[in-house]
Amino acid sequence: MKTDEMIETDVLIIGGGIAGLYAGVEAVSRGQRVVILIKGPTCSVSIGGCSVAFRKSPFGDSPAQFFDDLIMGGKHLNDRSLIAILAYESEPVLNELVQMGIQFQKRNDELALRKTAGNSLPRTVYYGLSTLGLNMTKGFLKCLDLKGVKLLRNTTVISLIKDHSRVLGASAISSQGELLFVHSKATILATGGAGSLYSFCTTPRSIDGDGYRMAFEAGADLMDMEFVQFEPFVFVTPPRSKGGTVFTSSIWEGAKLQNAHKEEFLPKDSKGVVLDLTKDVLSRLIYSQVSSGRGTRNGGVYLDWRGLPSKSLSNYPRFVKKCQSKGVDPYKVPLEVAPAAHHMMGGVTIDSYCRSTVKGLFAAGEVTSGIHGANRLAGAACIDGLVFGKRAGKYAAMYAKQNELLPKNVFKEIVHEHLRRLNNLINVDDGREKDFNKIIHRVKLIMWNKVGIIRNEKDLQEAVGELSRLNTLVNQAKISKPKYRGLYFKTKSACFVSLCIAKAALIRQESRGDHTREDYLERDDLNWLKHIVFSSSNKGELQIRLRGTEAENPPSWFDQELSE
Ligand SMILES: Cc1cc2nc3c(=O)[nH]c(=O)nc-3n(C[C@H](O)[C@H](O)[C@H](O)COP(=O)(O)OP(=O)(O)OC[C@H]3O[C@@H](n4cnc5c(N)ncnc54)[C@H](O)[C@@H]3O)c2cc1C
Repeated sequence: MKTDEMIETDVLIIGGGIAGLYAGVEAVSRGQRVVILIKGPTCSVSIGGCSVAFRKSPFGDSPAQFFDDLIMGGKHLNDRSLIAILAYESEPVLNELVQMGIQFQKRNDELALRKTAGNSLPRTVYYGLSTLGLNMTKGFLKCLDLKGVKLLRNTTVISLIKDHSRVLGASAISSQGELLFVHSKATILATGGAGSLYSFCTTPRSIDGDGYRMAFEAGADLMDMEFVQFEPFVFVTPPRSKGGTVFTSSIWEGAKLQNAHKEEFLPKDSKGVVLDLTKDVLSRLIYSQVSSGRGTRNGGVYLDWRGLPSKSLSNYPRFVKKCQSKGVDPYKVPLEVAPAAHHMMGGVTIDSYCRSTVKGLFAAGEVTSGIHGANRLAGAACIDGLVFGKRAGKYAAMYAKQNELLPKNVFKEIVHEHLRRLNNLINVDDGREKDFNKIIHRVKLIMWNKVGIIRNEKDLQEAVGELSRLNTLVNQAKISKPKYRGLYFKTKSACFVSLCIAKAALIRQESRGDHTREDYLERDDLNWLKHIVFSSSNKGELQIRLRGTEAENPPSWFDQELSE
């Protein structure tokens, strides 16, 4: 096996969503060499709205109001220092995007703002139907291209490379199935979430939790893994639209949500206006209808747009066109929707400089934890990816300026050891790869049926038992050929990350945000205003501890001052 497919860089970024790309733009603008490795499609291109606290908003918004909304939505489990940054930096970051030429919807020459789930005021910017994420992605890519940044697509990072104390880069499989080693001064993880661990989800298949596994294996802490957000309005039919999302904002504009008996079931105020409901509440209300036999034959409920005033319908021309092209006409028939796994609130713990607990490893975007607490507000993932993507790029660049690469021969030694472990995986006579796709399929069903929207102890115990077995099986498994490495690591991520989610859900004996336990229906601040943290023992075993919401003693590498 050759070890000469090596790239050296100052900042390595893993992931090509808004967090990774914006981090790249920032790091390269600070004079650093940047390499970005991208496995596949992103969630970011699907972003329709981005929530921002504009100080001169006609609706009287402010960063403090946004902060309060985030805390309310996150059920007080948010990291206050992180969300203060998010709320206060949202407007300057958005202004920067406008200056970069990224387009947003305007009304009377001002940015148009929409009211979306969990935001107490209209503060969500958008563009057309849902092309905002695409606009941003294209804008960042153009900028990276102009600066000559190396961007390797169809390249799957399989593990982070470390010496005894810090992350030094990553190993990856290229589009040709070859191994690739990147040696970096700073590494940013921006691999997004893990929606595809559930059998019904809104995310692309490549969003499968790799980042959580790799960070944990490198020694980083993971937190709040039990909090998985389900998007309430996701097409269950027609098959060509299945998994596509419908705007939650439509229910405040006059769309009706009805069960199979055409009964409306959302709570309303005395004037008949649907209450301000977050996505977790909407998902539970729909799930309850379906699980109590009041759902449609396809396991959904009806979202009827026929009563929407024409002024509101005109907000969604491309959506309506897209529906029509896929065989549903919102003007003529109600849409059939149900909740699907959508977003991870938990993940890698970071500080305000986006540093993980492992030296040299930064993280941004959905792979991190602490920002959304127990539930995220609509449009808040986008601004999270932008604000912290930019920060990760900035501080990783500063860190890279202060640190040197290892001498080539020393890094080669480390890679040799890494390679030895990778080669140990291969046993021509005992390859188990035939089972891997079955294992992934099984994991998705367990997650959907037992670790889903409404949970209980019996189901969770069964899930933990089965996922532990599968996790052990994969850890002991061999592959018969190097070409199965990608599948091996994908299966490993699926089992490990699902196990973390299930274990944390079993431990948390209360209901909060997106974690609903039918056997502990109440929120219990006295005992559970706490985080469940997973860390790795010296032997790489999973250690679990509870942590209060106050800051902990930071790891020693946080002492290093990051300055311009
Ligand atoms: C359908 C849909 C609609 C949404 N709409 C909104 C919205 O309107 N507003 C909002 O705020 N949020 C929305 N979200 C959530 C939001 O899109 C995500 O939280 C956000 O885009 C995450 O950005 P990210 O950069 O962290 O990750 P992503 O955009 O998911 O990108 C992750 C990247 O990492 C890569 N990657 C993963 N593993 C590896 C690996 N092992 N090696 C190399 N690369 C890897 C992936 O291929 C991908 O390129 C939506 C999500 C979905 C699925």
